Amino acid sequence: MSNYPALFLHHNKAHAVRRFHPWVFSGAVKRKEGNPDQGDIVEVFSENGEFLGMGHFGTGSVSVRLFSFEKVDDLTELWRKRFVSAFELRKAAGLARSTNTNAYRLINAEGDGMPGLIVDYYNGTAVIQAHSKGMHREKDKFVEILKQGYGDKLKAVYDKSSATLHHKADTDAKDAANSDSYIMGHASETIVKENGHQFNVNWELGQKTGFFLDQRDNRLLLSRYAPGKKVLNTFCYSGGFSVYAVAAGASMVHSVDSSEKAVKWTDENIALNNPGAPHQSYADHVFDFLKTADNDYDVIVLDPPAFAKGQSARHAAIKAYTRLNQEAFKKIKKGGVVFTFSCSQVVDREMFTGAVTSAAIESGRNIRVLHHLSQPADHPVSIFNPEGLYLKGLVVYVE
Ligand code: SAH
Repeated sequence: MSNYPALFLHHNKAHAVRRFHPWVFSGAVKRKEGNPDQGDIVEVFSENGEFLGMGHFGTGSVSVRLFSFEKVDDLTELWRKRFVSAFELRKAAGLARSTNTNAYRLINAEGDGMPGLIVDYYNGTAVIQAHSKGMHREKDKFVEILKQGYGDKLKAVYDKSSATLHHKADTDAKDAANSDSYIMGHASETIVKENGHQFNVNWELGQKTGFFLDQRDNRLLLSRYAPGKKVLNTFCYSGGFSVYAVAAGASMVHSVDSSEKAVKWTDENIALNNPGAPHQSYADHVFDFLKTADNDYDVIVLDPPAFAKGQSARHAAIKAYTRLNQEAFKKIKKGGVVFTFSCSQVVDREMFTGAVTSAAIESGRNIRVLHHLSQPADHPVSIFNPEGLYLKGLVVYVE
């Protein structure tokens, strides 16, 4: 049988794991048998030796990220089961095997029972992003499973983990450095379809794994509000919301991003779908842009990057969300609609709503909520790990 290092939890700390919470915090560990290193597989037990689960060890504030609450003999078989289950979920959600959409998140970390692992599928290329050394070590197995699952459809697998491993305080920088590479095939970019719209996705040069798949449903909702309207899409990245707005018949769409590359990609994606459409993009900081922006927008999208990456930045982030929303509320036409988002995991829905409320008060506008938005089905959240819900959005009507 196994001879993994064993971690025994304090008496009052086992219940969280019994309720399938996948993180064991360092303070919960009473004692260790064996000397696990970053990324090693460990078994977790109650104080009295009752088996609780198995996971990857980390030297940071989370000591173990659990991937199983049962004993596992064959790890490869466990990964295979997790991938199959993940694929089934995407099929059930109408994503895998759709003719309209061929880009989706296949593995969403804890939400798919694979803490520390993201796999995004872009029309034949899988991009792997490991957030833990333990998952990164298993990448060759994941490639085999992906090959079995997708067959000839799979053209390439790109490992884009250097930034995510590097940023973890609990990871050896030298292990992570420059590890971005193809582990199968080669294809640096591809055109994907999302709800019938086309996007060129470049995982090598793009942010995250190349595209923000998590806004798919919310972009679709924007289509309902865009016909005949003047739309401002801030923090546009590769133009996701802009492409939908143009296709829906917006009278004019303005896209803003501080990255020149993002603006170029937005223009290219607009041209790919609707050449000559009424669209203008601006390489500018959103706060600067808003200061001198037109005040006749009917619809404004606010999708900033995570303002808070950790607990310590939370207060400043909430202030920044307030300021951003306030600027938009001041600018927008009477009867206009604002799509406002936060993807900061540490800012929960209540705090985000609080920031939008403060912005409403400061701007002096009457604001009503039309939709409460979140992340789509290919970013599932385990009911036992509500922390997995990171994307929050509101659509508000401004008078
Ligand atoms: N809405 C996009 C994703 C946004 S990601 C989509 O649907 O794909 C956040 C974007 O904000 C990034 O492209 C980043 O370059 C940009 N960004 C970050 N800070 C900015 C700022 N102060 N002003 C303008 N753009 C900014």
